[in-house]
Amino acid sequence: MSHGFARISTDNPDEPMPKTNNRRPATEQPSTRIGYGFDSHEFHAGIPLKIGGITLQHEKGLGGHSDGDVLLHAITDALLGAVAAPDIGALFPPSDPKWKGADSVIFLREALKRVDYAGYAVANIDASLILAAPKIGPHAAAIRTRVAELLRVHCDCVGLKAKTPEGLNLDSAAIAHVVVLLQRTRQKRSRTKSR
Ligand code: MG
Repeated sequence: MSHGFARISTDNPDEPMPKTNNRRPATEQPSTRIGYGFDSHEFHAGIPLKIGGITLQHEKGLGGHSDGDVLLHAITDALLGAVAAPDIGALFPPSDPKWKGADSVIFLREALKRVDYAGYAVANIDASLILAAPKIGPHAAAIRTRVAELLRVHCDCVGLKAKTPEGLNLDSAAIAHVVVLLQRTRQKRSRTKSR
């Protein structure tokens, strides 16, 4: 009999799921959480290029409703995802004129606020940037320093790799992939508690 659900690991769809002993009380938060973020933006001539909160000298910048900072957007989504919050597009819809040309640091700070509210702090992040130009190597230290400052972690906790889009035919875009690890600092704040 089909239930309309994907079957997981048993040959008998009517067999109950195996009992595990790693269940935790609903009130207990896991000690670590992982988050993943992805973003891409297209290059356009005549606009500033912002990556990781700094402006790079280049003849083209990344378009978008905000300042187009592809790395900060991917970090923001990784942080939001780690605490199962709505994503960047839901919190800051491109249809809202309020965010036109906005500094992406605003988005990152909102995500950090939600991470803190959930009782977590950033342990480390690792990012991969994929773009044909400009070369990121000469700017990597400055980007890592700025991202570390924004996330309130040491530079050693910000990994950054840059790749060229070999064989992808994507020279007109910049792509960012980010994973973040959060560590629990305390239990989630109660909404009923006065602050
Ligand atoms: Mg974006």
